[in-house]
Amino acid sequence: MTTAEASGNTSGQKKTHGQCSLIVPSVTTINLQQYANRKMQVIANRLQFGRCRLNAYLHQINRHATGLCDTCAVPETVQHYVMECDNEITKQVKVFCQTQKLEHTLAKVLSNGEAIRIICRESKRAI
Ligand SMILES: [Zn+2]
Repeated sequence: MTTAEASGNTSGQKKTHGQCSLIVPSVTTINLQQYANRKMQVIANRLQFGRCRLNAYLHQINRHATGLCDTCAVPETVQHYVMECDNEITKQVKVFCQTQKLEHTLAKVLSNGEAIRIICRESKRAI
């Protein structure tokens, strides 16, 4: 009885000690296996951190004059490029979210392997 209680306490302590495993998954906690290959993992990470070859970030690091989207003339952020722009990526991602009943938010899209595949496929330039 005492041993059982002791082992119960021990497992309880282990659970408390390993709390990091209980943190609710967010856009930064993703299953890497869902991506088709390493290249897509890298692109997903870049988009999640906003450090990619889109004009808004290039402008931040002095590699683009304005940082604006060539089509819409608003800052070309990840949010704009994937969710709001008048490009094929935005259209395809919207359709994907509707058919998959996935919430149409940037966080949901960027943590979905299939959505990342669409972004890679439809992007006309390296991101
Ligand atoms: Zn645009």
